[in-house]
Amino acid sequence: AKRAGKNHYQFYDEVMNKRAMDRLIMENAMRRALLKEEFELYFQPQYAMVSGVMTGIEVLLRWDHPQFGSVRPLEFIHLAEQTDLIIPLGEWVFQQTCEKISEWQKSGVRFPRVGVNVSANQFKREDFADWALFQVQRYGVNPAQLEIEITESAIMDDVEHSLQMLERLQKARIRIAVDDFGTGYSSLNYLRKFPISTLKIDRVFVEDIVDNQDTLELTQTIIAIAKSLNLGVIAEGVETRDQYQLLTRLGCNEVQGYFMSPALSESKLLELVAGKSG
Ligand code: C2E
Ligand code: CA
Ligand code: CA
Ligand code: CA
Repeated sequence: AKRAGKNHYQFYDEVMNKRAMDRLIMENAMRRALLKEEFELYFQPQYAMVSGVMTGIEVLLRWDHPQFGSVRPLEFIHLAEQTDLIIPLGEWVFQQTCEKISEWQKSGVRFPRVGVNVSANQFKREDFADWALFQVQRYGVNPAQLEIEITESAIMDDVEHSLQMLERLQKARIRIAVDDFGTGYSSLNYLRKFPISTLKIDRVFVEDIVDNQDTLELTQTIIAIAKSLNLGVIAEGVETRDQYQLLTRLGCNEVQGYFMSPALSESKLLELVAGKSG
């Protein structure tokens, strides 16, 4: 048993070394990418279920890698979160979003809601709310247009801090969405106390809502909770007509997903909006 144990550790060491190496390579590549402005914002439209009107967009980060092309954040956000890179990266996303909103404003394009993801480490910072409000002011953005998306687990991690941050943001009229709702542990009591405006139902629910009765009932419960707390509710990752119709029947307000549209580059987004009105 001892020998097996030793082998096990040896193997573990090798894996760890490889991982540490990959991490180092990725970390350096990301640092370079920030300097060389290889990161880019994409935008996924959201729609009201009943009217079909576009209600907003979610800002999603892409890494336009010189060799690999457009890399999705699942491949690098996690790593960025383990290093401190997520802070400058997240700040870049937020600032860039404000800049875009103000540019669009000048050319007469306005989205009722622009959702921007804020990672747990970013949100944890003592000065997050002040920093965000400073940026909003600096770029002349109407704060009521912005919705900050924070995951359920990040909000529940330190409820005292969250309450403080969220209240400050709300006073300034920035809205808050709870991202990936249903995947963490929310205390309904806190949910009630937090100044939140939207719950985003995680894709894992939508994924098998059609085939799984338990999931269907859970989703129904989430929608009921949202309604009873007077919150908007957006279902994420809607890929099929069946899912769309089922969610409509359950009384879900809004949807986001490949069935309507993937995340778009800025030029594709503006084309879409121009096509609708012209
Ligand atoms: P999220 O916030 O839950 O964003 C939704 C993700 O689901 C996006 O993936 C989106 O492209 C994808 N999606 C949308 N509709 C569908 C669908 O119908 N089917 C499927 N299979 N997927 C769909 P993406 O862009 O790869 O982002 C993944 C995650 O990375 C995001 O999950 C978010 O947690 C994180 N992320 C993205 N951009 C940022 C950012 O700027 N800052 C931070 N902190 N995190 C970000
Ligand atoms: Ca999100
Ligand atoms: Ca989400
Ligand atoms: Ca997610």
